[in-house]
Amino acid sequence: MPPPPVLQRIPGQDHAIAFLAGAVPRPHHAYVLAGPEGSGKSLAARAFAAALLCARGGCGECRDCRLALADRHPNGFVVEPEGRDIHVDTIREEVWQPAYRTAPEPGRKVFVVREADRVLSGLDALLAPGRPAVASPLDREFRSAGRGNLPDVMGAIGNAAGLPSIAVPNGLSEARLPTSLQFMGRAWEENTILAAARAWQAITDHHGQHPPEVS
Ligand SMILES: [Zn+2]
Repeated sequence: MPPPPVLQRIPGQDHAIAFLAGAVPRPHHAYVLAGPEGSGKSLAARAFAAALLCARGGCGECRDCRLALADRHPNGFVVEPEGRDIHVDTIREEVWQPAYRTAPEPGRKVFVVREADRVLSGLDALLAPGRPAVASPLDREFRSAGRGNLPDVMGAIGNAAGLPSIAVPNGLSEARLPTSLQFMGRAWEENTILAAARAWQAITDHHGQHPPEVS
């Protein structure tokens, strides 16, 4: 099946367009469009937003498509960086709050965050659990312990955007199973997160603790 007309307008990105076209009928909650300057990220984001807002999946001609392509659709929210940063408050006010409010028009809401990696530009590292659960017990298979439904948003974003991250021990749970803490940094700044992780280990002794079975 050919991609919807609205996505066919993006030149030279056949692979990405085929992927986005396949995502239109049943989209995930978020996508990271990563690539060098001038590769068509903005064009693709706008066209994908139009495809998601159009009742015909991106016809390129209806009111929804026209408004979305002009960044003027009432249910399309475009977040621009202010200067070199995107502040946490901006995300809170322009994404978090509108996401929970009733949509201006019936149908879905679409948020486009431009230069999303600038969320990190004012920070040395973003901290989060390394895994949203404690480690699996030794006698259980890794995947069955996770049951495949543990969201790892940080890991997903970091992998897609190519951001470095390091996970270090963060103490044992009540059941004496290890937990971890991850430091995610800006692109090409591995040294900063390595220094942060080292500083963390200098003031904690989590890395010296082990579950009773492996002590
Ligand atoms: Zn349309």
